[in-house]
Amino acid sequence: MRVFVAFGPVFFALCLCACQTLGGLALFPGERATLYYNGTIYLDPAEPPVEALVVRGKRVVGAGSERELRKGLRQGYRTVDLRGGVAVPGLTDAHGHIAGLGEALESVSLQGAASYEEVIERVREEAQRHAPGTWITGRGWDQSLWEVADFPHHEALSKAVPDHPVLIRRVDGHAALANARALEIAGLLFAGPLPEIEGGRIEVDGRGVPTGLLIDTAIGRVGRHVPAADRTAIRRRILRAQEALLELGLVCVHDMGIDPATAEILEELDEKGRLDLRVVAYLWGNAGLDAETLARYPRPEDASPESRLRIVGAKLMLDGALGSRGAALLEDYTDAPGERGLLRLQYAAFVSRLRTLSRAGLQPATHAIGDRANRMLLDAYAELSRSESDFADFRPRIEHAQVVAPGDWSRFGRLGVVASMQPTHATSDMRWAEARLGPERLKGAYAWRRMVADPGTLAFGSDFPVESPDPLAGLYAARTRMDREGRPSGGWLADQTLSGVEALAAFTRGPAFAAHEEQGRGRLAVGYFADLTVLSVDPILCDPGDLLEASVLMTVIDGEVAFERASPN
Ligand SMILES: [Zn+2]
Repeated sequence: MRVFVAFGPVFFALCLCACQTLGGLALFPGERATLYYNGTIYLDPAEPPVEALVVRGKRVVGAGSERELRKGLRQGYRTVDLRGGVAVPGLTDAHGHIAGLGEALESVSLQGAASYEEVIERVREEAQRHAPGTWITGRGWDQSLWEVADFPHHEALSKAVPDHPVLIRRVDGHAALANARALEIAGLLFAGPLPEIEGGRIEVDGRGVPTGLLIDTAIGRVGRHVPAADRTAIRRRILRAQEALLELGLVCVHDMGIDPATAEILEELDEKGRLDLRVVAYLWGNAGLDAETLARYPRPEDASPESRLRIVGAKLMLDGALGSRGAALLEDYTDAPGERGLLRLQYAAFVSRLRTLSRAGLQPATHAIGDRANRMLLDAYAELSRSESDFADFRPRIEHAQVVAPGDWSRFGRLGVVASMQPTHATSDMRWAEARLGPERLKGAYAWRRMVADPGTLAFGSDFPVESPDPLAGLYAARTRMDREGRPSGGWLADQTLSGVEALAAFTRGPAFAAHEEQGRGRLAVGYFADLTVLSVDPILCDPGDLLEASVLMTVIDGEVAFERASPN
């Protein structure tokens, strides 16, 4: 087997000049080498695998046959037994919410509840553990799973839980249900003139009384009364989420929309060496960022060579979600004539935010779900590309790109927009997406292939805690477009299915490209950082169904083992 010594990345070629090579290995004086062996190692999804890898410090210095590599190594090197597992370039989730996952892990999980009664029961059980008056929050209910798939009315919940204010978010986070106690605190319990809310809606029943259902920004009317998490709680949630994410094999997360307090806590954890996961963060930018924040970020990449945190951009949000009919559409919702969703920023405000952010050096990442929001995003990105000479160099991102009008499909490539999409959104939403959109619009829905010619520039994620952060579930959805039970057979809108190589690239090379890191991450060539995920199956060649049963054996970040599953024997 050939030993690969690549001189691809420019920074590494420079560095190599100062070192010697021996037996195909780049040697760095002073640092002990580690040999990874007894496994199958993909340096790149599209290349044939090798059998061993040598890491020195944070970087890969050799790859190829075990025998050759051992020959080239001096004595005293360490070894890591891959136990027959399959190592791939470290998996990255290009769109997640770390503190949000920690919060979800701490609050009542309503995920998978098969009826409104089950939701109520889970909330009631939690409320019993807390003194009356304590806020009970939860997340993850999804009425599309219920036999009666209507949005719930608070009455049954309020009857079961009368003494605790309750606010429980729908699975997509874009709708929430409040009980009577919570509505009372927010002054929304009874009929009467309701406030006009930009970018949101308070649902009312036939009597004009709020049903407890709040859409998008209206959630804040009740949410603002929930005691805010203090720094200790945020720190605890981040660490709790980090543990779960490393165990799932993720080496990096693009954290989409952090507030200044969370940014500070991430920085503090990073400085103390407690951030094991790599985090590429985007500041929440819809409300506009103040001058002080704009001056402070983007965080210089060379702040510390040990740093696991980069704050590189800003997240903007143009519309809501499809499930709660908050996504901004060009035409009416098929199942709700007269409704076209909600825009959370108007065009002029969006363009002005983009201009401010890009002049401050922050990469824009904009949430757009409906075809109207997507068109607005493309128009604004095009305008900025004309007026700001280096705008395209940012690789401006679109988050979700869920429903795109046919005339707009090719504009993403032309404008150099990075598509950050979530395969599990497709397989969760497929049950009701056609009802919302009708058959014609469906052709441009969750259409990874239509907008992205090269899957290496497609960045996949999960939008956790909206979906599970498990990247194996994402790989499965990308390859099959089926739910975990294998429905629908052959896959939903199956022409958009990806191959094993393409799906893996979208969880490795794609996110690296989206974060301008493709020179050192997203692959495992010599000179690249040693970020590895070691799996019990071959994610490229295995039957997709095996991904759902597979386990993560090891997560390695910058050459350090960040998670290792205990050996079964
Ligand atoms: Zn999100």
